[in-house]
Amino acid sequence: MLIDPFGRVATDLRVSLTDRCNLRCSYCMPPEGLDWLPRPEILTDDEVVRLVRIGVTMLGIEEVRYTGGEPLLRRGLTEIVRRTAQLSPSPQITLTSNGIGLARLAEPLRDAGLDRINISLDTVRPDTFVRLAHRDRLNDVLAGLAAAHRAGLRPVKVNAVLMRGVNDDEGEQLLQFCLDHSYELRFIEQMPLDAQHGWSRDDMITADEILDRLSRSFDLTPDDPEKRGSAPAETFIVNGGPERVGIIGSVTRPFCGACDRVRLTADGQVRNCLFAREESDLRGAMRAGTSDDDLADRWRAAVWAKKPGHGIDDPGFLQPTRPMSAIGG
Ligand code: SAM
Ligand code: SF4
Repeated sequence: MLIDPFGRVATDLRVSLTDRCNLRCSYCMPPEGLDWLPRPEILTDDEVVRLVRIGVTMLGIEEVRYTGGEPLLRRGLTEIVRRTAQLSPSPQITLTSNGIGLARLAEPLRDAGLDRINISLDTVRPDTFVRLAHRDRLNDVLAGLAAAHRAGLRPVKVNAVLMRGVNDDEGEQLLQFCLDHSYELRFIEQMPLDAQHGWSRDDMITADEILDRLSRSFDLTPDDPEKRGSAPAETFIVNGGPERVGIIGSVTRPFCGACDRVRLTADGQVRNCLFAREESDLRGAMRAGTSDDDLADRWRAAVWAKKPGHGIDDPGFLQPTRPMSAIGG
């Protein structure tokens, strides 16, 4: 098992398949993009599958979420999903994506063994989309959402980040859009993980603010907290149900005590937390010929070094050196 000194067990592995992206969401990266990882540093498909196999068969990983950057840009994605589904025991396989290209890929991914998907959608207004993501791709995202739903990757979950002065007036409209299309919406508080280091706590739209705004138009009842488990979202029943909306208060309502996640970056580094300042290099060890047993030991040691919380409120908090797109969100 991947256990830390505070008794938490990591069973949810998030694997970044690329740090590249075809959008430039301003809470994530600057309009000009970033210096992408050089290709030789990125794990090959075989290396990804080997590490995922070690996680699933030797270390108790139960869910594998492929993310990035934009994972749909990874050419071998469908094959990676297929090989992951063939592992025994077979993990839950999920994807976090901006949806661009999903119109073509939703069915092949489902057939390869993908179980569920989260798609990011912060606005349904074309001009706001361009302002926020610096690309005119809203229609591609909407087509991707519809294709995921048609392919049966349900419930299709939608992730939205609200930014002050950009889309903070759109929470109610986004919820209505998701209710109309049977998508499950979750708002995520903006975290200090942008490459530009532009995050400020005063500008952040808090979970309380989101709830206040939604409550003007919808009747929200807190869901049974027993059902939450290690899920980061607090859920609310909308207008008597069965629809629900989630709020992930990563900053103001941290859920670190129940965290069951561990991350693998596209260049093969284990990170025990989004906000970790240290990484453990499995790629170098793997390419030097290290055995599965030794890689598993290194991975266990990395999780054993996990801190109790993200520390955003600590006076000495330092943003991690890698941005969200390079860590894998
Ligand atoms: N490109 C894919 C996407 O956008 O869904 C996957 C990677 S993205 C880094 C994963 C999730 O992280 C997205 O839902 C995105 O909205 C969220 N995200 C990125 N930067 C964030 C930040 N600074 N604070 C909160 N969420 C963030
Ligand atoms: Fe790309 Fe996702 Fe970052 Fe937006 S949040 S720039 S879609 S990686």
